[in-house]
Amino acid sequence: MLLRENLRRGRRVAETDWATSGTIRQERDMGREEENTPFTCENCDREVLPLSNGSYRNHCPFCLFSKHVDVTLGDRRNECGGLMSPTGLTHKGGKGLQIIHRCRRCRAQSANRVAEDSVQPDDAEELLQLPPA
Ligand SMILES: [Zn+2]
Ligand SMILES: [Zn+2]
Repeated sequence: MLLRENLRRGRRVAETDWATSGTIRQERDMGREEENTPFTCENCDREVLPLSNGSYRNHCPFCLFSKHVDVTLGDRRNECGGLMSPTGLTHKGGKGLQIIHRCRRCRAQSANRVAEDSVQPDDAEELLQLPPA
């Protein structure tokens, strides 16, 4: 009971957070069905479920690897498709904790929000191993 209440509260906070960042929300809504399907991580081979907190899952919660498929968050318009390694952890105002990913193929870098308050949240042990960026 208590857990469920906490989860509900967490979700509400996440929604409020998204609602205040209008541009991100717009980008995120494109191709949403495709975003919210389970995928198998190409680095650790584990099955990754979609986020249950209304946000977009773009990296593996177990090994934190990502895949280079977006130009902007969630659009799937990048054709690189390279595996992206987590290289660091940063904290930016208003956006919370973010993982810095670097593409092994084209060397592009991007920052992605840590997944919390969801099924399969990002592995805390793995997060702690990342150097501050
Ligand atoms: Zn993985
Ligand atoms: Zn790339």
